[in-house]
Amino acid sequence: MSYALGLYRLQQVDSRIDQVNTRLDAIRTVLENDSSTRAARATLEQAEKSLREAEKNLRTSEAASQAQRIKLEQTEASLYGGRVQNPKELQDLQNELAALKRHLATLEDSQLESMLTLETAREEHKAALTNLSQVEGQFISQNASLKSEQDTLQNNLENLKAERTATHSTIQQALLEKYETLRLKRRGLAVTTVSDQACDACGAGLTPAQAQSARISTQLVECPSCGRILFSN
Ligand SMILES: [Zn+2]
Repeated sequence: MSYALGLYRLQQVDSRIDQVNTRLDAIRTVLENDSSTRAARATLEQAEKSLREAEKNLRTSEAASQAQRIKLEQTEASLYGGRVQNPKELQDLQNELAALKRHLATLEDSQLESMLTLETAREEHKAALTNLSQVEGQFISQNASLKSEQDTLQNNLENLKAERTATHSTIQQALLEKYETLRLKRRGLAVTTVSDQACDACGAGLTPAQAQSARISTQLVECPSCGRILFSN
């Protein structure tokens, strides 16, 4: 087996291990940061707060209108009850009645506004509840599939590690050191293939002699541009 072939096999196993680890990290992140459920819960809490406030505002404005109506009835009773005869006093009562009616109209407008606000708050609260239950449902089913994917990946990882140990043992120590150094420097990819007389990792063109060497040499041939070990079969 050529030096490059052994390292190429090791690289293939390592690349798969890297892929599995990347996916396992992503799954852990999702499982540990349930941000969509948290956001839906926060929206519901806010909607509950707005709803309670709108209910309280409506009660306050209903009470204000009711108190105003009682005042108005009392003034009407004085005006039409026959006990007041003095024209000046009657005029004053009439003026007071008109003022009370105007203010009642204002209070009733504000009561209507409170009712509309409450209606909106109820709709938003209902929507937030529905949304939370949907998001929670999604998360539970997503969790189920993610958990089973995690189990499968962990099994794969064990198999890959065993494969790596077997491949690793066939390669000379000095080559392994070179490989590990290159892996660190070149984002995990130390060995690359050659296609159409070019490095598959960086795309640099190779001379015919370099391409030939990568195919048959028992010495390691490196890409003249990125420095990776070239493997060609
Ligand atoms: Zn290259």
